[in-house]
Order: sequence, then structure tokens, then C-alpha cells
Amino acid sequence: MTVRVRIAPSPTGNLHIGTARTAVFNWLFARHNHGQFILRIEDTDLERSKPEYTENIKSGLQWLGLNWDIGPYFQTERTDLYSTAIQMLLDQDLAYRCYCSSEELEQMRELQKSRKEAPRYDNRHRHLSADQQAQYEAEGRKPVIRFKIEDEQEIFWEDQVRGTVTWKGSDLGGDMVIARAGETEKDSFGGALYNLAVVVDDIDMDITHVIRGEDHIANTAKQILLYEALGAQEPIFAHTPLILNQEGRKLSKRDGVTSIDEFRKMGFLPQALANYMTLLGWTPPDSEEIFTLTQAASQFDLERVNRAGAKFDWDKLDWINSQYLQKYPTEELLELLLPYWQEAGYQVNLTEDQPWLIQLTDLIRESLKRLSDAPKESHLLFGSSIEFSEEALKQLQQPGVADILLTLLEGITAQLNLTEIQSLITTTTKTHKVKKGVVMKSLRAALMGSLQGPDLAGSWLLLNSKGWDKLRIESALKLV
Ligand code: GLU
Repeated sequence: MTVRVRIAPSPTGNLHIGTARTAVFNWLFARHNHGQFILRIEDTDLERSKPEYTENIKSGLQWLGLNWDIGPYFQTERTDLYSTAIQMLLDQDLAYRCYCSSEELEQMRELQKSRKEAPRYDNRHRHLSADQQAQYEAEGRKPVIRFKIEDEQEIFWEDQVRGTVTWKGSDLGGDMVIARAGETEKDSFGGALYNLAVVVDDIDMDITHVIRGEDHIANTAKQILLYEALGAQEPIFAHTPLILNQEGRKLSKRDGVTSIDEFRKMGFLPQALANYMTLLGWTPPDSEEIFTLTQAASQFDLERVNRAGAKFDWDKLDWINSQYLQKYPTEELLELLLPYWQEAGYQVNLTEDQPWLIQLTDLIRESLKRLSDAPKESHLLFGSSIEFSEEALKQLQQPGVADILLTLLEGITAQLNLTEIQSLITTTTKTHKVKKGVVMKSLRAALMGSLQGPDLAGSWLLLNSKGWDKLRIESALKLV
């Protein structure tokens, strides 16, 4: 048996972290089992589905490295299949036409509410006589199609994450709508709804494992009944835990960033984000937390997917991202950082300044958690002049500091190298009979205008190659 799994997003919004994480698990499962990963776009909600969301979903999956083997399929191109299935269910008396108006359904719900009963459809049109039907038709009512769900029925399945799951037919809300009302006289019924379309597609696409979020558990119970009615073997189900916010509730738009696009703009690397998403609900057997998708695929199984919700942890994502940034090839990292510098207003030019920018990239990479940290971590290195922080000014005004700076200034040549920088610092320390720390602190204050920042010798090299070190020390001396 070839394993076939799918990701089936609805293009009613940008690629969401929850969908992307489900895609990760499906991808890993497919790769682990040398199976196929299918992309199916569930675009039957015509009002809310938009082509730009489909594009966003596709490009987001590609960016994350979640390439699909087959598809994308579009449900709007497969409506004939759904109609055939619906007609078959009608012919076998497993489904029927329901003419209830929305007012009648509303009244039903109100009554149930007043009796403190759970809202459900009371199956009232299940046994309409031909005359009653004809009368509703004559009134011009357009029926929806409902699939019969027996209250007494027990549904159960062996969930690969949650173990045996059982569901009572009576808890499924009564006979379910599988097709909307037709729009024109000619329509026998309208478009298929989610549960029907998914089952027809999963049968048609030979899906062997349905791996999706646990918010679909009640749908699974309904879908199992549809598999049975359509005479098909149900797939194996695995319901993955939800992604939770800090308060332990389902992560939602209200929590701020949730679309993959936003994570990308914030400066996360796709490899790091995919790595982090894999850990949102799956524990690797060797506890190693940094891995590529391909490495994770070699170890992935559904048994190690946790049942409990997975709390989204920004610090952990930052840490994982920084691990990737440390090891990223410098020239490629530079390419990724450029737009962030440009957006922050720095005149960075790759053709003129590549060697300098490469050095800068290596200098700051250790302090980066996100690509977007680049301007903040490097702003002290741009420009011939600099503003001095209060702390730096205080240091510059210490007795003896001006003389230290003068000695350093005299030692500056056009092309300093690291050894020269180090010996210049040592000589200055000896000449002025001060601790090395005093020289370093004063130098940092004068060169960088701050007492914090990246490695001092590395920073000096960068400033020196632009001739900015001299200018900065001179202006520091003016303040002393
Ligand atoms: N279109 C559904 C969703 O986006 C797919 C659920 C499923 O995997 O069956 O949630």
C-alpha cells in the first residue's frame, strides 16, 4: 500500500500557522513512508475563497520546503463527482430533501434552548410524504439535502494520536446537510458541503491517512458514516493537537501574528520555522531539537505526536532561528539581511560594498535572533559620525581617557589588521599604565558611542576600512 496523505486548505485567508503545521506533519509522514503528499484546495465557499489566498498558500508551502507530489486539485473543478455521490445517497434513501426555512430552523433552536437542550436538527423532514413535498415545491421552497444520522448509532475509530475515539450518533446534531439548496429551477440540489466533498475526494484520491487538527474530530465521526454509506473503506485518522497561545487557548488572529507570511517578514528562516513547527506537538526520539525536515522525516511517526495542546513559544522559535543564523553561509545570509537594512534606510550596496558587508554580517550574526534584528544590531557601525550615549560620554570624561584616545588615534593607519589592532591596544595599556579594560571601554565609547555592541576589534576593523574610526575618535576627543 502506498501511503497517500493530503493537506486540504480552504483559500479563505493566508496560509495559517495551524495549517502549515498540519502540512508539516503530513509531509513528514509521507516522506517517512515513501508515500505521496497531495495538495487539495477546498474552495467550495465561493464567497470567501480568493485566488490570491490560493497563491499565498502555495508559495508559503513552497517557502517552507513542503513540496507536494500531486495537485493542486481544486474542489470547484470536481463538483460532478460530488453531485454523483449525493444523487447516489438520495437514490438509496440514505439522504433526503429538507425544505425547512431558516425561520423554522431558528424557531426549533429557540425552543431547544428554552428547554435547555443541545441545539440540533430534529429530523422533521425525514419522512415527508410525496404530497407534503409537492406542497413545499409548489410554495417555491428550495430544499437542502440531508444525510441521515441515526441517533442510536455508535461511531468509533482507532485514532493514531488519541487512541480509540467513540462518538454517539445523537451527539452529531441530527441529520446533516450535505448539499446546499439549488439556485435555479433546473438544479436538483446545490453545491456540496465540506463533509461530503472531503469524503468523496479522500476516497477518489486514495487517501490512506487523514492527519489533521483535532478541531475536526466531530467531522471525522460524520465522515465515517459517509464512507460507510458510499461503500468505501475509511482511511486511518490522526488528530493532531491544537496550537495554543500563552493563556492555553487556541491560537487565533487575536494573538497577533499567525500567517506564515508574517513570520517570514519578521525575519524567521523557513528552515527554522519548519523545524519549530515540527516540535509543536511532536517529540523527536533522540531529543535533538535542531534538524532539517528531511532529518525529521527519517524519524517521524504518529506515535510520538502528543495529545496535549502545543503552546506557542516565541523564545523557543527565536532560539531555533538563531541556531540556523549562526550556521548560515555568510554570503547567503547577507542577501537575506540586505532588505532589512534597506528598509531601515541604510545605503547598502552589494556591488560596491560586498567585502565590508560580508564582514559586517559575520560580526553581528551571533547577536541575531531574527533577520530583522540586523539594523538594530549593526546601527553603530554605519557612518562617519555617531551619537554618544550618556554612559559613553561619562566614560570619555574620565580622567586620562583623552590621552588614551590620542595614543590610539596616532596608531591608526589606513589598513589596520587584527594583529595591529591588538598590539596597539597593548601598547596603549602599557604607555598609560592602565588596565586593558580601561583602554577597551574608552575605545568602545569613542568608536561606537556606546558601551554595548558587537565585538570591539571586529567593529574597529570595519570602521577602519571606511576611515570612520579616525573621524569618530576625533569627534569623541572634542567632547572631552
Ligand atoms: N478545508 C479543511 C480545513 O481547512 C480541511 C480539513 C481536512 O483536512 O479535512 O480545515
